[in-house]
Amino acid sequence: MVEGVEVPTDHLIGGERLGSSARFADVSPIDEQVIAQVARADADTVDLAVAAAGQAAEEWGRTPPKDRAAVLHRIADGVEARIEDLSVVETRDNGSLLRSHRNSVMPRVARNFRFFADKLLELEHDGDSSFNGNQERFTWDPSGVTAVIGPWNAPLMLATWRIAPALAAGNAVVHKPPEWAPLTASLLGDIALEAGIVPGAYNVVQGIGEEAGAALVAHPGVSRIAFTGSVETGRLVAAAAATNLTPTSLELGGKSPFLIFADADMDAAVQQTVGQFDNAGQVCLAGTRLLIESSMYDDFLERVIEAAGQVVQGDPRDEATDIGPLISREHFERVDGFVHAGHAEGSRALVGGGPNEDLGGLYYRPTLFVDVPSGSPLLTREIFGPVLTAQPFRDEAEAIALANGTDYGLAATVYTGDEARAERVGEQLVAGTVWINCFFVRDLDAPFGGSRNSGIGREGGRWSFDFYADVKNVVTAPSSGG
Ligand code: NAD
Repeated sequence: MVEGVEVPTDHLIGGERLGSSARFADVSPIDEQVIAQVARADADTVDLAVAAAGQAAEEWGRTPPKDRAAVLHRIADGVEARIEDLSVVETRDNGSLLRSHRNSVMPRVARNFRFFADKLLELEHDGDSSFNGNQERFTWDPSGVTAVIGPWNAPLMLATWRIAPALAAGNAVVHKPPEWAPLTASLLGDIALEAGIVPGAYNVVQGIGEEAGAALVAHPGVSRIAFTGSVETGRLVAAAAATNLTPTSLELGGKSPFLIFADADMDAAVQQTVGQFDNAGQVCLAGTRLLIESSMYDDFLERVIEAAGQVVQGDPRDEATDIGPLISREHFERVDGFVHAGHAEGSRALVGGGPNEDLGGLYYRPTLFVDVPSGSPLLTREIFGPVLTAQPFRDEAEAIALANGTDYGLAATVYTGDEARAERVGEQLVAGTVWINCFFVRDLDAPFGGSRNSGIGREGGRWSFDFYADVKNVVTAPSSGG
């Protein structure tokens, strides 16, 4: 029982719960208490799951699209019916805000399923063409077994962004949830079975990344790998996938720039700047590098300091809280290491600059560094904590050079009141998504992914089906009669 909700902690393989003698402790970031002992898969368990998925894939793949879509809609109904359970369990497990889970994250989980169910039926009417008198029919055929591996910062939302299109495409899924927040995937398993999915079309293998995750991505029975996580792990996944030539979609880390020009709407820009501390900075898309036009650099920062002072840190279950804890002790030490190194190299913290000693535990103060020496890891490495940097720029050219000056390319945000400038700058930024005068607007029909080290491939809308399916062209010559 977690927060009054019964959560299975075994694997889900072929529609059945299966235990492991080995278990791992699931620790809540809210108070560092162990909240569950979760089954810990080895390579043999992964084998079983891939075999079960391979078997189920035949039936699920043959299920007519309209029936697959109906199951996906019923999964969405099940998610909606259990938003409260999913929200309280996810908050206890990963420390993100309960009100965000209730109001936006879990509704988005349901939307992931509805959107790809509807998109599947749209695709059906998108597959005819002709060439030199020959008829062409393009189809998106099921490709077999999809491995889904994701991070802990929004575990169910990010996993279902890949699970839903994979299932819609007619693939069976083996999902390895993050070991730091594994629980809501188990609840999804219950919901999928109740929705009438073919048993074995959705499998959950719980375990540690280096063990269960590594075995899964190296498995020759897997035909697609959908991985979300860090660049470092992404490299390992890509290397394992290369052995079997398994097509792999990588959604990796970021170090996104957040540009503010002097002609911007200042109230909106300040508010959105402070919003980059959301989820204690554990957001891949966060604009962690503030680039501010030098003519208003000091004034802008003064306003950011004031606004940051209003941010309430505390228990993520409390309605008044804006920012909760970091995910784990290990991650806390990692974030703190960056901040320590920042102080040591002479960077100056205008806001925060260390752990929240009033709250203790894994609570880390929202931190903003200025005067950061060029080349500092604060400017080049993803910290994945509530740590921002600010740098001034003189003109557009310098802003763009600074913005594009990392190995990442996940997202970029620009605040400006000048439409022509917005267009010019937007065109020159290297990023999978550029937001102009907005942030985190996510259309599931739009391409999503990262440039440079932030990822390989694009998903969303039809791009998702292009990845998960085996796309086929059947060319038929004009009838010669007879
Ligand atoms: P991580 O790379 O440590 O782990 C991600 C997942 O990979 C976990 O489930 C883990 O168990 C598994 N894993 C670990 N080693 C593995 C291996 N050798 N083989 C297979 N799987 C393995 O990342 P994390 O700390 O969980 O998440 C934070 C990272 O995720 C950040 O870099 C963040 O930017 C990124 N992220 C990216 C997006 C995106 O959409 N681009 C979204 C959210 C998070």
